[in-house]
Amino acid sequence: EAFNAAVAGAAELNAFIVTTPDHALSAAERVDADRAAGKPLGKMAGVPIGMKDLFATKGVQTTAASHILEGFEPEYESTVSQNLWNAGAGMLGKLNLDQFAMGSSNETSYFGNVSSPWRKEGTNAAMSPGGSSGGSSAAVSARIAPAATGTDTGGSIRQPAAFTGICGIKPTYGRCSRWGVVAFASSLDQAGPMARDVTDCAIMLEAMAGFDPKDATSLDMPVPAWEAGLDADLRGKKVGIPREYRMDGTDSEILDSWERGKEWLRDAGAEIVDVSLPHTKYALPAYYIVAPAEASSNLARYDGVRYGLRELPDGAGLQDMYAATRAAGFGDEVKRRILIGTYVLSAGFYDAYYNQAQKVRALVSRDFSEAFKQCDVILAPTTPTASFPLGEMSDDPLAMYLNDVFAVPASLAGLPAMSVPAMTNKDGLPLGLQLVGKAFDEQGVLNAGLAIE
Ligand code: GLN
Repeated sequence: EAFNAAVAGAAELNAFIVTTPDHALSAAERVDADRAAGKPLGKMAGVPIGMKDLFATKGVQTTAASHILEGFEPEYESTVSQNLWNAGAGMLGKLNLDQFAMGSSNETSYFGNVSSPWRKEGTNAAMSPGGSSGGSSAAVSARIAPAATGTDTGGSIRQPAAFTGICGIKPTYGRCSRWGVVAFASSLDQAGPMARDVTDCAIMLEAMAGFDPKDATSLDMPVPAWEAGLDADLRGKKVGIPREYRMDGTDSEILDSWERGKEWLRDAGAEIVDVSLPHTKYALPAYYIVAPAEASSNLARYDGVRYGLRELPDGAGLQDMYAATRAAGFGDEVKRRILIGTYVLSAGFYDAYYNQAQKVRALVSRDFSEAFKQCDVILAPTTPTASFPLGEMSDDPLAMYLNDVFAVPASLAGLPAMSVPAMTNKDGLPLGLQLVGKAFDEQGVLNAGLAIE
């Protein structure tokens, strides 16, 4: 009954692409049986979670919210989802997202927009839940699921978490296996949890993370006991405030929330210090070269032969079939990324764009290494604005890309970063604050987050 009530709520938000109540129920039954038999229970025992529809789930349609994968039922389970089932979790369903995780508003899904459960006070316009993990943020924020998986290539866990008043952490690149996660930009893609608070994120991340020989970039390091290590006492810790994040176009309410965040961390015992990340302004343009370049290569596999959709016009040859399938199967934003990606990788432009972007990426990384000589964790806004009404920005890709301006530097550097709810603005909409940590120091990020939430 609870499930059906939740599904009705979810239908209004369009958060799920498919629902899988039996999966959640059988996990709960297994937990009951284990408990009765006196067996130890996993970290996520009986917790019904939402699964972003970017994770391959055995026998359950996996679409990346694209027409080109409609009907695709993988014969294998992603490592991250398998880790969650092994820890006792069950799946409520596959959550809607921006198509191939490309977007910041959840408006590029083939299966329709997701709307946020939040409204501007006094209005009823449907608001964006953020993207690309917009089904995840909407479902957790509306309390339809206690937690959900997300993925973050350039902010897709943090920005939707900020827009909907929940927590989400992108761990250090390599912590969570990418095996069985539909690839967007492989050198940036990271899975992570989205949940109501920092503690739930710590618990779920422990269950998701771990070395996986099937992912060549998986970190061969033990998973720390993050939950046990949670501690909001920040005495002796230094929090860096990057001066380059004070950018034009950032709402004054965002700057106010940043000031309050400093106060909260100071109250928890931390010392606030100024730091500099001089190449910040080049991070966004570099990201929008590197990510589409990798995407254009990763998406070459959708050819009408191996997965999902096949368009075979009468009398068509192989090339026609490729072209017809890709023309019909990919959405506009995905095509835009493929065009950008193939352009920046093409002979003659490669050095001017792709190589330059890679150099910028190295400089952005170096900025963080230098800054972390002076502080333990960095505090910044997650987004330059609060959530916006659906439709307001959907035909302006550049304005949409600007949403990611505070999120992409940590992505380029592969660092752990989390968004925690900070406050609501004058319209009653949530604002998030971002914590960025040293590589492998998810604990420092979680602890600073705990002091803020
Ligand atoms: N909004 C960014 C993009 O569209 C980030 C997406 C993501 O992190 N998956 O590329």
